[in-house]
Amino acid sequence: MRVIISGAGIAGPTAAYFLAKAGRHIDVTVLEKAPRLLAHGQNVDIEDQAIDVIKKMGLMEQVRRYNTTEEGTQFISPKGRPFAPFPVTGAGGPTSELEILRGDLALITYEVTKVLPNVHFRSGTTIKRVFSSKQDGDELDRVELSDGKTESFDALIAADGQWSKTRSMCFPESAVSVVDMGVYAAYFTVPKTANDNKYWNLYQALDSKIIGTRPDPHGTTRAMFTCVPRNAAQKKAWEDVKRADRMTQEKHIANEYSNLGWEAKRLVNAMPESPDFYFQSLQQIRMPYWHTSRVICMGDAAFCPTPLAGMGASLALMSAYYLAGEMSKLKEGEHPQRAFAAYESVFRPLVNEHLPDPSSGPKLLHPAGRVHRWVFQRLITVVAWIVGKMSPADKKNTAENRQPTLMPYAAFEKMAIDGVLLRSSTPIPSARSAVLHLQSQRIPFILLTNGGGKTEAERITDLSNKLDIELDTSLLVQSHTPFAELTHLHSKTVLVAGGDGSKCADVARSYGFENVVTPGDILTAHPEIWPFARNFLDYYSSFARPLPSADPLKVDAIFVYNDPRDWGLDSTILLDLLLSSKGVLGTLSPKNGDASLPNNGYLQDSQPHLYYSNPDLWWASAHPLPRLGQGGFQHAFAGLWDKVTSGAELAHTLIGKPSQATYEFAERRLRAHRKTLFGAPGLNNPLRRVYMVGDNPESDIRGANAYESPYGSQWRSLLVKTGVFSGSHGDEAPEYARPDALVQNVGEAVKWALSDSGWESKIEKE
Ligand SMILES: Cc1cc2nc3c(=O)[nH]c(=O)nc-3n(C[C@H](O)[C@H](O)[C@H](O)COP(=O)(O)OP(=O)(O)OC[C@H]3O[C@@H](n4cnc5c(N)ncnc54)[C@H](O)[C@@H]3O)c2cc1C
Repeated sequence: MRVIISGAGIAGPTAAYFLAKAGRHIDVTVLEKAPRLLAHGQNVDIEDQAIDVIKKMGLMEQVRRYNTTEEGTQFISPKGRPFAPFPVTGAGGPTSELEILRGDLALITYEVTKVLPNVHFRSGTTIKRVFSSKQDGDELDRVELSDGKTESFDALIAADGQWSKTRSMCFPESAVSVVDMGVYAAYFTVPKTANDNKYWNLYQALDSKIIGTRPDPHGTTRAMFTCVPRNAAQKKAWEDVKRADRMTQEKHIANEYSNLGWEAKRLVNAMPESPDFYFQSLQQIRMPYWHTSRVICMGDAAFCPTPLAGMGASLALMSAYYLAGEMSKLKEGEHPQRAFAAYESVFRPLVNEHLPDPSSGPKLLHPAGRVHRWVFQRLITVVAWIVGKMSPADKKNTAENRQPTLMPYAAFEKMAIDGVLLRSSTPIPSARSAVLHLQSQRIPFILLTNGGGKTEAERITDLSNKLDIELDTSLLVQSHTPFAELTHLHSKTVLVAGGDGSKCADVARSYGFENVVTPGDILTAHPEIWPFARNFLDYYSSFARPLPSADPLKVDAIFVYNDPRDWGLDSTILLDLLLSSKGVLGTLSPKNGDASLPNNGYLQDSQPHLYYSNPDLWWASAHPLPRLGQGGFQHAFAGLWDKVTSGAELAHTLIGKPSQATYEFAERRLRAHRKTLFGAPGLNNPLRRVYMVGDNPESDIRGANAYESPYGSQWRSLLVKTGVFSGSHGDEAPEYARPDALVQNVGEAVKWALSDSGWESKIEKE
């Protein structure tokens, strides 16, 4: 696989490192605009899972060596005296244990990566154009570079920072939101003086301005001026300055800051000599989607959180690791879309946690007048005092001793079963010990759920975290997992309905479907298609993608991946397509209602086939009564279809428990899992008995009772009382859905199965 990365900041080299480590079959070229590495930038923190990434790269020692030596954060009073200290050794504060200059971090990630044989750095080189062209009949994606060369690639990663040029070449403007945080900042390095200490000093001058100094490990001092303009005139002045040259910027800053007291004069005087003066307005970058075909944005290019979040570098490190992990799972010649979608669905929630709200924080920190400053400083003094009284950070929680929370490289996936292992996201007592017991005894098991609406990676991560157990993705079969096998539809245009936002579309892409549209995409492009959804346009447009360029849209298959959230819109679009001529949106088949044709002419005109993933009428939620599930939608839609077509048949495919197809798929997975555990000999000793533990008589139990294994295995059904079923004997269920045993919970079910099969067992109590 040939990967081109644009940008050798933090994210670029880190992604190159993990991709290259995944194997020699991956060849990585990193392009950097600067003629030599830009070792610029101020203090950045390494936090959270980024610490694990640094450890995996073997860079902990180097990070410690380059530590900025900052011992904490404190405020400076109007009289120039320090107060409200937050030492780094305390219970918490703005200075983190691992502080490093951005430039030093960029340098050490570059140094450790450049020696890898399958990574090539090319500095002073940028992408001029991204295009496709034919070679030997094959369509190749290519870049034209600033040095005149063209290169082909299988995947292109835009890691060229907040104002990524690669992003603007490959994504429409509408895919990028710039969120103004209302703060202007200048950073620069000055000679150190005797007054400079080992703290991050924050001096709140009036008129919404802050002056800061921080230590660095190179014997100099890092200076910072920030301002939050209070009115339109001030804002305009700063905006003009932003667009001006360095000299104009410095002049404006000198006028604004020189007379504000404390170290202002000294810093302003040293500013013109600074080698790395850097001025910016703090602006977040947000994108509703990060990838398109073979191109993906990463790091600041995809989600710049701004220094206000203190997480830019950490997120860049983490995103590189996760993306490379997913890409390393691609098979030879496989399109990267599956990896991109899987990465996006796992990583986006982490990013969302760290994009600060632009509303109030900066204004609070930048007092405009004396009263505001006085109140803030009294409050921060009390907060510092309280924090100081709290026990110091536990030694066990230092970066060195930290228990890694990063998911294993290239094997991120696991899962959950509502009603058996979890109930509305909370682990069911005995679930953890039951799964641990199966693992420790090497008893093959899989997790089969009618749930869906997330990628397998996301769901398994969630379950792993909740149960605190490492589980492998291959163990998980969700309701829609078997759709991945419909490879003949991968290159067709498919409609994917159901689920939150674009999550189901991302799942479909992760299975290899290349052209996915959602009802939300259609509504956003044609709001008149279902006028009653107008109130929800903000929701839809937050994730909608442009429709494929072919106009009008032609859909080849319809999938309902998860419970529709907007039954009105989804029913309307399904009906439109099923009544259309050949799946072309906005047409009506002339054959509809023709009594001379089979089925009165309905579905006789190459309309898209309809696939449902989960027949459950009910599901167990936090509400005391079961809630309608996807099965509810199917019955409602069947009624609608019946009315509109005067009783024509609605041909469709329904998978999910209790269908034979889903149980067959699950058994194949189970056999594969046995093979992993025992090797090929395990298959010589055939799988004879399988125990299905479920909470829903109509799906889990019914499916197991009816299942006819093509491999000749026998299935027994065990019904737990922790989910949908609320009876007390099990014989309340219709005969076809009666279990072989009714048990209290999954722990008891496992005990029952082990005893039934003659397996000696003792499950530890939690
Ligand atoms: C000079 C600089 C100073 C910074 N200072 C701070 C700071 O003081 N505090 C803080 O919290 N964050 C700072 N940041 C941002 C912080 O470093 C990022 O949040 C974090 O590093 C994100 O990493 P990244 O690799 O995604 O992007 P970056 O670190 O921004 O790296 C992007 C890289 O792409 C290169 N590049 C840009 N355009 C092109 C192109 N067209 N083709 C090829 N290469 C290109 C850039 O030269 C750079 O090397 C700074 C960033 C930069 C670039």
